Amino acid sequence: MLHAITVDVEDWYQSTIDARAGLSDRFRTSTRLVLEAMAARNVKGTFFVLGLAAEKAPDAVRDIAAAGHEVQSHGYGHLEVFNLSEEEFRQDVLRAKGLLEDLLGAPVCGFRAPSFSIDERTPWALDALAETGHRYDSSIFPIKMARYGIGGYPPEPRVVTTARGRRIVEAPIACFDCLGGRRPVGGGGYFRLWPYAVIRRAFRQMDRDGRPGVIYFHPYEYDAAEMAVYRGKVPLAMRLHQGLGRRGFARKVNRLMTDFQVGPLRDVLADLLRQVDQQTP
Ligand SMILES: [Zn+2]
Repeated sequence: MLHAITVDVEDWYQSTIDARAGLSDRFRTSTRLVLEAMAARNVKGTFFVLGLAAEKAPDAVRDIAAAGHEVQSHGYGHLEVFNLSEEEFRQDVLRAKGLLEDLLGAPVCGFRAPSFSIDERTPWALDALAETGHRYDSSIFPIKMARYGIGGYPPEPRVVTTARGRRIVEAPIACFDCLGGRRPVGGGGYFRLWPYAVIRRAFRQMDRDGRPGVIYFHPYEYDAAEMAVYRGKVPLAMRLHQGLGRRGFARKVNRLMTDFQVGPLRDVLADLLRQVDQQTP
């Protein structure tokens, strides 16, 4: 079973604390750490890149593509979709798509929403993506969490028909069954908190079920020293919460890349993408 490994390329302070802040330079260094870890294990993945990052560091984005990874869109400004109108969302995704396509000279057809912000509040989002030339989305968190997610959403990647009759592939974030319920195990904060043994158990379960999991993380999670930089600028409680488990993060993802078969979403979704292409007039 091939699982998808995906990286949301952004800067921690801009995406978490202040959307209007420029990107700090740290994401360049941490993206480099991720690329090195993947190269050492001969792993290719999907990088969802912010339009802002493409503007600020086009060379860093070219490096990702040159290393053979799939580059897709994380939107332009890291704006949560459920806080936007459909028109604002379209403008944001078109801006990101245009920047990335100009930079790389290749079509951008995949999307990951900031903070999994496509949910029941945004019934138009998949239509807007399909109508702006996207063939797949990987934004839906198939568990209802405090800030995002859709409870009971089908956990496996599949072709969905949108409200306005378009077809698009949706690849929800990985989850597994544990202690009588569905639990999150896709990456990010969940990887920081779960011991590696639990993560491994979850991916073994997906292997047995024949269901590919979508793993996500951010370059900054490979940067264990980052929280110290924001001492005095970001409240202590926030730094503790966000910094918890960062030290062991890279080690867990690196082991996962060794213990399981992982690759880019375009490979995991290949059959489904063909179905979308055949049925789109
Ligand atoms: Zn993000």
